[in-house]
Amino acid sequence: MHLSKRILVTGGAGFLGSHLCARLLKEGHDVICVDNFFTGTKNNVISLLNNPHFEVMRHDVTFPLYVEVDEIYNLACPASPIHYQHDPVQTAKTSVHGAINMLGLAKRLKAKIFQASTSEVYGDPQIHPQTESYWGHVNPIGFRSCYDEGKRCAETLFFDYRRQHKLRIKVARIFNTYGPNMHPNDGRVVSNFIVQALRNEPITLYGDGSQSRSFCYVDDLIDVFVRLMDTADDFTGPVNMGNPNEFTIKELAEKVIDLTGSRSKLINKPLPKDDPSKRKPDITLAKEKLGWEPKIELEEGLKNTIAYFETLMKESKK
Ligand code: NAD
Ligand code: UDP
Ligand code: UDP
Repeated sequence: MHLSKRILVTGGAGFLGSHLCARLLKEGHDVICVDNFFTGTKNNVISLLNNPHFEVMRHDVTFPLYVEVDEIYNLACPASPIHYQHDPVQTAKTSVHGAINMLGLAKRLKAKIFQASTSEVYGDPQIHPQTESYWGHVNPIGFRSCYDEGKRCAETLFFDYRRQHKLRIKVARIFNTYGPNMHPNDGRVVSNFIVQALRNEPITLYGDGSQSRSFCYVDDLIDVFVRLMDTADDFTGPVNMGNPNEFTIKELAEKVIDLTGSRSKLINKPLPKDDPSKRKPDITLAKEKLGWEPKIELEEGLKNTIAYFETLMKESKK
C-alpha cells in the first residue's frame, strides 16, 4: 500500500525545490514548502497552489521552525555563485544555522532528513572524476568558501547528529543541474547562455571556456532524490548525483547557439576566482545502491530548457 506522508521541502520555491514539490504531490503526499524567496519565486510553485495538499510558508531557515512532518528535504540555500556571494555571511548562516535548525526539527520529530549537498565540497578537485571518498581541495577563505565550507560544515552536522542522536540522514552531493524553473537572472551558465542566445546577445565565456562541467537534467536528479530518501536507514550517503557526460563551457555555448539558431557571438570575460577547472561525478555508488543513472542527454535537456525560457520571455513581453 502507498502511504501518504507529510513532507517538508526547504527552498521549495527554488529551481530544484519546485520540481521536487511537484513530484511529491504527484505521488500523493502532503507537502509544506518553506522558502524566504531570496532566489526562489512564487511563480515556480504557482501551478501547485490550487492543490489542497500543498502549503507555502515564507520563512528563513536560519530561524527555528516548528511544524509536524515525517520527512524533510533541506534544499534552502542560494546555489548560483553570484547569488551566494551577494551576502556571503547569510549564505554561511543558511547552510550552517539552517542545517542545525532542520536537524533539531528532525530530532524532535524522529523524521528522516535529506541534505542537498554539492560537488563544491570537492572544491577545485585534484582527482578526476570525483568519488565520494575524495576529501576535496577547498580554499577555506576565498569567495566561494561561504558556500563550499558552509555545505561541508552542514555535512559534518548531519553525520554528527546521526552519530550522537541516531538521526536517519541522507546526504546527496549534487553536480551541476539545469532545466525549467531556473531564474532567467540566476547567473549559472546554462540559464545565462540560453537567455543570451535567445536575445541574440553576446554569450559570456568566463576565461577561455576550456573549463569543464557535467550537466544533469532536472528530471533525472529529482528521480534520484526520491530513490535516496527511500533507501534503508543504514544507507546515509554521501552519494554523488549528476550526469557524468563532461563538456567544456565553450562546447556548451556552441551547442546552445546551434539549438537556438541564434546570431550570438562568443565573448570572453574574466574567469571568476577559484572557479574549478573541471568537474565530473563518478556515479558508481548511485548506480549500485540506488539503481540509478541519468537518462536525459544534454541535447534533449537543453531543448526542453530552451522551450521554457522562450515561453517565459514571450510572456514577459505581453
Ligand atoms: P535556487 O537558488 O533556485 O533555490 C534555493 C531556494 O532556497 C530558493 O527558493 C531560495 O529562495 C531559498 N532560500 C535561500 N536561502 C534561504 C533561507 N535562509 N531560508 C529559506 N529559504 C531560503 O537553487 P537550486 O538550484 O534549486 O538549489 C537547491 C539546493 O540544491 C541548494 O541547497 C543548492 O546548494 C543545491 N545544489 C544545487 C545544484 C544545482 O546545480 N542546481 C548543485 C549542487 C547543489
Ligand atoms: N529546532 C527547530 N524546530 C524544532 C526543534 C528544534 O527549529 O522542532 C531548532 C532549535 O532552534 C534548536 C536547533 O533546532 O536550537 C537544534 O536543536 P537540538 O535539539 O539539536 O538542540 P538544542 O535545542 O539543544 O539547541
Ligand atoms: N560560466 C561562464 N559564463 C557564464 C556563467 C558561467 O563561462 O555566463 C562558467 C563559470 O565560470 C564556470 C562554469 O561556467 O566555469 C559553470 O558555472 P556555474 O556558475 O553555472 O556553476 P559552478 O559549477 O561554477 O558552480
